[in-house]
Amino acid sequence: MRFSKILIPTLRETPADAEAISNILMLRAGYVRQLAAGLYIYLPLGLRVIERINKIIRQEMNAIGAQEVTLPVLHPAELWQETGRWYEIGEEMFRLKDRGDRDMCLGMTHEEVVAWLAVREIRSYRELPQIWYQIQTKLRDEARPKSGVLRTREFLMKDSYSFDADEDGLDKSYNLHAGAYRNIFSQCGLKFYMVESDPGMMGGAMAHEFMAPSPAGEDEIVLCDQCGYAANIELARSVPKEVETRNWNFEEVSTPEKRTVQEVSKFLQIEPPYFIKSILLISDQGPVLALVRGDQELHEKKLNKIIGKHRQAHREEVVEILGVEAGFIGPTGHRLKIVGDLCLKEGVYVSGANKPHYHAKGIRPGKDFSAEWHEIHIAKVGDSCYKCGAPLRIEQAIEVGNIFKLGTKYSIPLRAFYLDKNGQERPIIMGSYGIGPARVAAAAIEQSHDRDGIIWPRSIAPFDIEILPLNMKDKETVKVAEKLYSDLAGDGIEVLIDDRDERAGVKFKDADLIGIPTHIIIGEKNLKDGNVEIKDRKTKETVKVPIQNVVNTVKQRIQGH
Ligand code: ATP
Ligand code: MG
Repeated sequence: MRFSKILIPTLRETPADAEAISNILMLRAGYVRQLAAGLYIYLPLGLRVIERINKIIRQEMNAIGAQEVTLPVLHPAELWQETGRWYEIGEEMFRLKDRGDRDMCLGMTHEEVVAWLAVREIRSYRELPQIWYQIQTKLRDEARPKSGVLRTREFLMKDSYSFDADEDGLDKSYNLHAGAYRNIFSQCGLKFYMVESDPGMMGGAMAHEFMAPSPAGEDEIVLCDQCGYAANIELARSVPKEVETRNWNFEEVSTPEKRTVQEVSKFLQIEPPYFIKSILLISDQGPVLALVRGDQELHEKKLNKIIGKHRQAHREEVVEILGVEAGFIGPTGHRLKIVGDLCLKEGVYVSGANKPHYHAKGIRPGKDFSAEWHEIHIAKVGDSCYKCGAPLRIEQAIEVGNIFKLGTKYSIPLRAFYLDKNGQERPIIMGSYGIGPARVAAAAIEQSHDRDGIIWPRSIAPFDIEILPLNMKDKETVKVAEKLYSDLAGDGIEVLIDDRDERAGVKFKDADLIGIPTHIIIGEKNLKDGNVEIKDRKTKETVKVPIQNVVNTVKQRIQGH
C-alpha cells in the first residue's frame, strides 16, 4: 500500500478529551475517529489491525472444531422475554419497535438466539457436541462509554456457544475454549492472565476471564506468583496478615468525638488490625451486622452470597436499631444476626461500645458475642494466598475475553432439549465464550508503546514493513524503494511505502507513531555505499544492510517473531 493512496490522518496534537493512552494513540496515528459517545469509525489502518486479530481468532476457533455462523443483530423481543432478560436488563439494552409495532431489541449478546437455533436443529445426543461462533456487532447502551475502543456502545465480539449432552461434555468444551483463548492472546502478543471470575447469579457455574494487565484496565486481579492462583478481586480469596494477640481485659474506654477506626486508632495508639469495624446492613431478612478487621474493607459481593441482597443502613436506622450512632457501634450486646470475617474469629479486639463516645477494648469473639464466620473482606496487597500462603499481588487489568459455563440457564426456559441414548428428553448443557477484538487491539497498545507512538506486536500490526524513501525527489532513492516494495509484496509481505513528498522528519515521526514493527529507511548517503537502514521500531536500533540482502533480512525478522 502507498501512503499517498491510503487515508492515514495523523495528528501532531493530543485530542482534547481522549483519556486512555491507546485511545490517544489510535486517534493520533489515524486508526480511528469518534463519531459520538461510544461510536467509532475504523479507518484503514484500524480495520487492518482488527482483521488480523479476527484471522487469529478464526484459526484457533476452527482448530477446536467450532463452526462459524452469523446471527442477526436485530432480535424479536419474545425470545428475551422467555428467558426473562427482557425484564432483568435495564437501560443497557437498545429497544425499538418495528413498523408493525412489535417489540424488538439490538443484540447485546446471543445466548437467546443460539438456544432458539438449538431447539430446532439439535434433536438427539448424536448431534452433540456442537460449538457455534460468530464475529458480530453487539450493541449495548453502556453507562460510561470511555477510553476509546475499550468500551464502546457498538463493538465487535467473537462470541461462541457450546452445546453438550452432560457436564463432562461441557468441561471439555470449556477447556477447549480456554486453550484456544490462550493461543489467541499469546499470538496477538498480549501479556495476559486467565483468572477466576464471578459467574454471577448462577450458583455452581464456573467462569474465567482473560485479563491483560494495564493501568488503563477497569478490573483488579489478585495474583499469587508462587502457586499461580489468579482471580478477579470480585471474588478473590486471601488470608490477611496475622497480628499478635494482645492480652487486654475487657474495659470501656472514653473516646470523645472519635468515630472512625483511623481516629480511634490514633487516639488510643492501637494499630487498625486490632479493631473490629461494624457495619449495619439491611437485608431482605432484616438487619445484619457485618464485621471486618479495622484494616479491611467489606466485600459486598462475598456478603451478598451469604445474606442476599442488602444495602447500608441509613444513619437514622443505625440509631433506631442499635441505639447509638454509627461511630460507636460494636458487636457486643445485640440480638441481631452478625456475620464476621473469618480472621476475626480468634484474637482480642477494640470496637465500639454501643455507647456514645465510648469504645470497648478487650473484646473476645466467641465469648463476648457470637457470629457466623465467613470470608467477607476485600483481598489486598500484604494478604497471603489462601492456597499456598505466599504474598499476593494486585494488578489493574483489561478484560479481553471470558469463558462461562451456563449449564441449563437458557436451554430450560427456551426448551432446548435433546433425546439421550435411552430416548429420554434432557436439557442441552451450554457454555458461552466472548472476545472483544477491539479491546485486544487497545490492550496491545496499552502494553506496548513509547512516547513516540505505538509499538505493535508483529502478528497484529497493520503492515509487516514500512519503507521510508527519505527524498522522493531523488531518482535513485525512488528506484530502490519501488524495487524493494515490489519484491517484498511479491513475497506475500504486507508493505506500506511512505511515498509522500514530505520531509524526512515528518516521515520518521509518522512511522514511529503508526508503530509498524520494522522500517526500511532509504537515504541518499547510505545508498552511495549500496546500503539501506533497517530500523526496529521497539528498540530503535538501526543496522545498515546491503540492498541485495534486504529482502532476506526482513523475512528473517518477520519469521523470527
Ligand atoms: P465488561 O465487564 O468489561 O463490561 P462484559 O462482562 O460485559 O465486559 P461480555 O459481555 O462477557 O463482557 O463480553 C465479552 C467480551 O466482549 C469482553 O471480554 C470484552 O472483550 C468485549 N466487550 C464487552 N463489552 C464491550 C464494550 N462495551 N466495548 C468493547 N468491547 C467489549
Ligand atoms: Mg459489560
